[in-house]
Amino acid sequence: MTDQTAPQSLLAWLDAAITARETALKAVPEGRRWYIDPFDGHVAEPDGVWDDGRDRLPNRHGIWLPLFDPADALLRCAADRNLLASHQPTPGVGYGPDDDDTPGAYGEIASACSSCGTVNEYAVRFPCHVVRTLAEGYGWTEGKR
Ligand SMILES: [Zn+2]
Repeated sequence: MTDQTAPQSLLAWLDAAITARETALKAVPEGRRWYIDPFDGHVAEPDGVWDDGRDRLPNRHGIWLPLFDPADALLRCAADRNLLASHQPTPGVGYGPDDDDTPGAYGEIASACSSCGTVNEYAVRFPCHVVRTLAEGYGWTEGKR
């Protein structure tokens, strides 16, 4: 198994995970979305829209909670990609070597996040908490202890 904590490995894994989700979401016919009746768990799809633009749903209990909208999920994927674009590894500006976690150890300086912290002393080693959290949202578990 590859080391998913390595910056490029984690980025590749995350890109593949987002791409897989986007591919699955794009396979859903356009306009489909689902709501749930919180009283009994009944799931329904809208049967058209009302004049005011709201989805037309069965009048069972009068309350429907949005359950899943593939179009919204695709927007979330795009937002995740935008967030990821601003949290990229920047080589040579981190504090501490990549190959030894011992404080004060010598070695190649770690890559740091391009957005988190500040370069050198207060740099945040890549992958930062934002990238790790994004990856966890797509099923990554390698970084959990
Ligand atoms: Zn970051």
